[in-house]
Amino acid sequence: PGPAAETIARINPDLYIDGAWVPALSGARFDVENPATGEILAQVADAGADDARVALQTAVDHQTAWAATSPRSRSEILYRAHQLIMSRVDEIASVMTAEMGKPLAEAKGEVAYGAEFFRWFAEEAVRIGGDHTTTGDGANRIIVTKQPVGPCILITPWNFPLAMGTRKIGPAVAAGCTMVFKPAELTPLTSLLLADILREAGLPDGVLNVVTTTDPGAVVGEWMESGKARKVSFTGSTEVGKLLLRQAAGSVMRTSMELGGNAPFIVCADADIDRAVDGAMVAKMRNIGQACTAANRFFVHRSVAAEFSEKLAARMRALTVGDGAADGVQVGPLVETKAVDKVDRLVTDAVERGAQISCGGTRPEGPGHFYQPTVLTDVAPGSDLMSTEIFGPVAAIVPFDGDGADADDAVLALANDTPWGLVGYLFSSDVDRVEYLSAHLEVGMVGVNTGLVSNPAAPFGGIKESGLGREGGRLGIEEFLDVKYLAVPVR
Ligand code: ADP
Repeated sequence: PGPAAETIARINPDLYIDGAWVPALSGARFDVENPATGEILAQVADAGADDARVALQTAVDHQTAWAATSPRSRSEILYRAHQLIMSRVDEIASVMTAEMGKPLAEAKGEVAYGAEFFRWFAEEAVRIGGDHTTTGDGANRIIVTKQPVGPCILITPWNFPLAMGTRKIGPAVAAGCTMVFKPAELTPLTSLLLADILREAGLPDGVLNVVTTTDPGAVVGEWMESGKARKVSFTGSTEVGKLLLRQAAGSVMRTSMELGGNAPFIVCADADIDRAVDGAMVAKMRNIGQACTAANRFFVHRSVAAEFSEKLAARMRALTVGDGAADGVQVGPLVETKAVDKVDRLVTDAVERGAQISCGGTRPEGPGHFYQPTVLTDVAPGSDLMSTEIFGPVAAIVPFDGDGADADDAVLALANDTPWGLVGYLFSSDVDRVEYLSAHLEVGMVGVNTGLVSNPAAPFGGIKESGLGREGGRLGIEEFLDVKYLAVPVR
């Protein structure tokens, strides 16, 4: 047993409610599996609606006292949690690799990224500001203040087990909101470890309540329909996001939705191809392609398509695939068998419609949910993977034609032909073209000659069916604050 096993043995597998670790009322537990080996890592509490009710009531009971704490004290809890996480990078990374599969080097990168949300929001906690104006007729002063929205429901996916949690918990703590938090059933261990770190950092009992379950519909449904939570912050599929929006309507709850993406990756005729290939490796292969920001559709000008495809395939072929915990591995397993089946189906469909396989295109034999890094060229725009989040290591390249402004409009039509609008990547060395394309891409974020947009200092989020609201940056904390304005007559 390596460092992961030792750390996992120390993680409390129960629910974390009111500062205490408690088993599910039913006593049920579920298995957490290592996707690289199939090994069972731990059994954690499997909560139902009754546990959910207790957890939310706890959050409700602590809201008033928590909101009354000083911004500085909340800030210092987040600073301490940031430092505790950074003092335990290897340990936390090994747990993430074990339960989710990403290579250790990437997991360490996520620990730093995830911890940074706590430092960022520690800095924001003491800078919550308002506004002051006077009415046009001079009769009233307008004093705009901010207050915590109240008890929040936080729901996270499995692909970034630490960072998706800290990105929501950080601003909620900073703003003075209490929380019920339901991590993904595939990756609960990192969240349980995080709860313990926050306790050690001084977060008062009852502010954060963590509920693990294999029945998210029952647990979250209980919370959504209680009328007691004031806000839901969700990261996950568009399908579940739409369900939560419908449920939120019942009590007109505030919502933040980080949903799916279908990112276009545009390589213009004037792009620096080596730089575009570097960007593609990040935008496609970060997290083994399992990110809502993953480049899903590569639109490459026909004049540079062969060079780009060949260079990308060479880089993809050179990657080492294996157990993320092993030295030198660059590509881990996908999170579960279903994910490999889906990738396989999408590749088969594209090939049946005429795509060429430049590299990969196979699932290796043996244990673990692996798929070979794959480059497909001449993909037909009607292929299923153009309208589906691939969530795997497959780059689908579609050439586009035209000169000058015609090429720009042609690629925009392709790129915007999707209900999603999270992020787009744009590679060009022409400033005017970058300005035009970024202005007309229907997305919330644009990577200009870079394959990475995620950063705690930036407002992460999408438009169209990719979601509502922003996480991180100056806007992140606003999602957890209500505005209250005072009209004060001028004497
Ligand atoms: P993914 O495809 O990334 O797993 P999901 O949207 O299924 O996306 O999962 C994201 C999060 O949403 C997970 O924590 C999952 O447990 C939760 N979830 C799934 N179904 C529901 C539901 N019916 N109600 C609330 N949360 C759900």
